[in-house]
Amino acid sequence: MPDLKGGCTCGRIRYELALNNVDDARTTLCHCRSCKVALGGAFGLTAKTPIDMFKYTTSDKPKLFVQDNGVHREFCDNCGAFLCEYGEANKDKFRYIMTGTLDDGPDALPPKGEFFTRDRNKWMPQIPGRFVLVCIDQAELTTII
Ligand SMILES: [Zn+2]
Ligand SMILES: [Zn+2]
Repeated sequence: MPDLKGGCTCGRIRYELALNNVDDARTTLCHCRSCKVALGGAFGLTAKTPIDMFKYTTSDKPKLFVQDNGVHREFCDNCGAFLCEYGEANKDKFRYIMTGTLDDGPDALPPKGEFFTRDRNKWMPQIPGRFVLVCIDQAELTTII
């Protein structure tokens, strides 16, 4: 498949995903409180991608914020757009790309499942035909991602 491209709101930071097929990435919704606050939205939406299939293509690189729950979040320190995240345990293996930053949008890599469904917003229905996973706490999430 052709490389997927994406970047932050202001365009200073751009990246490419070199996937062989869509199944190289695993997109999930995350309903946890941590994702909601970090992204200022109703859920997190990330594509788990092997680190060697992801690269920044601009000389400007993102700023790294390490949350106290161990989640690493990379964002543009000019416009504030989050680009990817990863847990401490997987930091040398995977990047979790915020699929809203893809040029083709989240439709390029549709979700395969949902995490932290216990924290789903009351007004939000389950996505049909996808796996669901109820996590007990943030520590569990860091072992999953
Ligand atoms: Zn930016
Ligand atoms: Zn989350």
